[in-house]
Amino acid sequence: MAESFAVDRRAETEARIRRFLDREKPQTPCLVIDLQTVRERYEDITTALPLVDVFYAVKSNPAPEVVELLAAQGSSFDVASPAEIDLCLARGAKPETISYSNPIKKAADVAYAYSRGVRLFVSDSEQDVRTVAAHAPGSSVLLRILVHSKGSTYPFGRKFGCDPEMAADLLRLAHELGLDPCGVAFHAGSQQLDVHAWDGGIADAAVIAAKLRADGIEISTVNLGGGLPAVYQEATPSLTEFAQGIEGSLRRHFGDARPRVMIEPGRAISAEAGMIRSEVVLVSRKSYSDERRWVYIDIGRYQGLAETEGEAIAYALRTSRDGGPVGPVVLAGPTCDADDVIYQHTRYDLPLELEAGDHVDILHAGAYTASYSSVCFNGFPPLATYCI
Ligand SMILES: *Cc1c(COP(=O)(O)O)cnc(C)c1O
Repeated sequence: MAESFAVDRRAETEARIRRFLDREKPQTPCLVIDLQTVRERYEDITTALPLVDVFYAVKSNPAPEVVELLAAQGSSFDVASPAEIDLCLARGAKPETISYSNPIKKAADVAYAYSRGVRLFVSDSEQDVRTVAAHAPGSSVLLRILVHSKGSTYPFGRKFGCDPEMAADLLRLAHELGLDPCGVAFHAGSQQLDVHAWDGGIADAAVIAAKLRADGIEISTVNLGGGLPAVYQEATPSLTEFAQGIEGSLRRHFGDARPRVMIEPGRAISAEAGMIRSEVVLVSRKSYSDERRWVYIDIGRYQGLAETEGEAIAYALRTSRDGGPVGPVVLAGPTCDADDVIYQHTRYDLPLELEAGDHVDILHAGAYTASYSSVCFNGFPPLATYCI
C-alpha cells in the first residue's frame, strides 16, 4: 500500500468521525469507532498475508459492532475469557473460529468454552495442559513459548510462555492425554516495530516441530500472536514489509513443510479506526515563572488512556483551537490520583488560547482504550463508545 494512500485514508477516517461528532455532539469523553476503517484494516492484513489465518484479538476493542463486522468478513477470534467467547458467538462467530489464547484459565472456564464448542486452546504449563485434557477432551492445544520481544513498545516480559524445551515436552504430554498437539504459539510484543521480530519464535517452533517429528508427532500450526503495529506519531514499517519478514522466516525455518499459520492482530485492526473526543476541564500554571501550563482533560489513565502509562504510547492530539500560537504543556486526567498524569516527559505543545470547554481529540485511539477503562474509579464512568 502506498504511504500517501494510507495517509489519505487516515484523513478520511478522521473526517467521517468529525462529521459524526459535529452532528451528534455526544457527551465527552467518548470514543468513536469508524467501522469502515476496521474493515479496511482487516482487509489490508489478509491481503498482505494471504496464507495466514487472522484471529482478531478481541481485547483490543470488544465493541459488539466491531466483532460482528469482523465475523461477517470471515475473521477468526483470539479470546481470553468466557465473556469474550459469548460476545463472539452472539455476534455471529462460529465456535471453530475461536482460539482461547489465554494460558491462564480456570478449569470452569475451560469447561464452559468446551460446552460452547471451542476446541482450540493455548497453554504454557503442565497444569493447564492437564486442565484442558480433563475439561475439553480431544481439543487442539498450542504451547506458548517465551520469546525475546526487542523492538516492541510493549514487551510481554515473562508472564506468558515457557522454555521451548518444556513446550516440546508439554506437546508430548498433550498427545499422551488424548489432545491434538497442534503446535506452537508466541507473542513478539505489542506495537512491534521490527519486521524481523517474529524470526526467533518461528525458528524455535521449527526446532520443536523437528524434535516431535522424530517421536512420530506431527504438529500442524504456528500461532504468531499479535504485535503488528498501529500508526501513532512515529513512522512504522508497512504491512508489506512485515509480511516479507514473516514469510521469509517461515521459508527459512520450515522450507517446504510450511505449517498452518495464525496471526492475532489487535491494535493493527482497531487503533486507527478510533478517535477519542475529550474536553478541557482546566488550564493552569504552578507558578508565575512556569512556562509549562497544565492542561487537565476529562479523560485520563482510568477512563481509557491506560497505555499512556510510562508514556509508552504517545497519541497524536488535535484541539478545537489548532492554528494559533502554541506552548508546552503537561497533560493530565481529571481524577484525584497523582498517577493520573498523561504526558509530562513527552513534549506536547498545545494552543495558548486553549481553555475550559475546548475539545482535545486523541487520534488512532481505537485499541486498548475503552476496553481498559475502569468501571467507575472516582465516580468517572467508563468510556462510552459509538460505532459509525
Ligand atoms: C493482546 C494479545 C494479542 C494482540 O496484540 P496486539 O499487539 O494488539 O496485536 C494477540 N495475542 C495474544 C495472545 C494477546 O494476548
